[in-house]
Amino acid sequence: ASLLKIDVHEGLENTLTILRYKLRKHNIVVTREYDKNLPQIQAHGSALNQVWTNLIDNAIDALGEQGEIRIRTCQNKDYVVVEIMDNGPGIPLAIQSRIFEPFFTTKEVGSGTGLGLEISYRIVVTQHHGEIRCFSEPGETRFQIRLPILHM
Ligand code: ADP
Ligand code: MG
Repeated sequence: ASLLKIDVHEGLENTLTILRYKLRKHNIVVTREYDKNLPQIQAHGSALNQVWTNLIDNAIDALGEQGEIRIRTCQNKDYVVVEIMDNGPGIPLAIQSRIFEPFFTTKEVGSGTGLGLEISYRIVVTQHHGEIRCFSEPGETRFQIRLPILHM
């Protein structure tokens, strides 16, 4: 598939627009810390929007009826870095190593497929040669995505 020049902030904002009613219903405040000099990246169309949707959806599920989602962007050498954070309960250490496995879910039957993070991993790592990592402790979960600016 061909690569396009993508504005990461535009993709994040489109995703937030689609999720705005859900965010409002759950009383979630979104805080943006965008690097205004962030370069565009080469990406496969809007595939990354699926990643932002999955991560923000998971944050909403974790927060429940109120909370904050912070979205940070910055450039680090040849990479654009996106961090999506929430101040929910966190992911127990015992399951942190399993969250990217297909069909791994802690949600009730019918409310989670356990595929969101596995799909996100494939989009970021396999399709875009980037990295996705999770840092979580009680009270804070942070997903960090690194995407190469120029894609080989
Ligand atoms: P699903 O959302 O369908 O359960 P995912 O692959 O999106 O599947 O996520 C897998 C699991 O990772 C979730 O069931 C949950 O236990 C955990 N998880 C993911 N994101 C968060 C988060 N922000 N806070 C707490 N737990 C999370
Ligand atoms: Mg999910």
